[in-house]
Amino acid sequence: MKKMLSTADIHIHTTYSDGVATPTQVLAYAAAHTDLRVIAITDHDAISGALEARDLAGEFGLEVIVGEEVSTREGHLLALFIEEELPAGRPAVETVAAIHAQGGICVAPHPFGMLVPSVGRCGPLRRKVGLDRGWPVDAIESFNASLWLPLNNRAAASYAARHGIPALGGSDAHHLETIGRGYTHFPGRSAADLRRAILAGETMACGRPWFWGPRLLTAWLSVRLGGAPDLPVTA
Ligand SMILES: [Zn+2]
Ligand SMILES: [Zn+2]
Repeated sequence: MKKMLSTADIHIHTTYSDGVATPTQVLAYAAAHTDLRVIAITDHDAISGALEARDLAGEFGLEVIVGEEVSTREGHLLALFIEEELPAGRPAVETVAAIHAQGGICVAPHPFGMLVPSVGRCGPLRRKVGLDRGWPVDAIESFNASLWLPLNNRAAASYAARHGIPALGGSDAHHLETIGRGYTHFPGRSAADLRRAILAGETMACGRPWFWGPRLLTAWLSVRLGGAPDLPVTA
């Protein structure tokens, strides 16, 4: 019999970094408005929101993966299935090793995104050289719903296929309504099944992009900055 497929969103921000929704609001929305079974909370350089969400997840019939979007010197890396917060500002190769040292899974998010710090585009000309340095990432976010230029996700999908690297989909949601806009199909039901599927290369990246239009931007500014638009938007 064919194994059932479930959906997971592996890339969600909360108020613990630059998202506009609290962990509780994220859980309530995902439970009521999506068919996601597993979500990863991946705040920038912080795991407190993910830990809080994991504690509350059972009340919402969901499973939460503790994650972090780590700012490395060469761009963002997603750490999934971690327990200890990882520091920002280290070389990517050290962060990959630190994720693996605590049993986590390392994903290159939006690897060829042109407007966000991306490990596929480091170097002075931000060419596609970073990933080719041999960093042993476990998977690539080959669909990131915040990248509205199709060529950015296409480059990631073709890189993953060319190198035989498992492909994941994530929303990179900073607002409730974009949760689940990028997602990962995987065989099974649980976070442990997703982990196995990633390592076995049995995941599929799906979704449709969202846009930082005036409405989302205004909501984000009003919650995050109190109207002082002097911080960068870091997907
Ligand atoms: Zn992000
Ligand atoms: Zn990012």
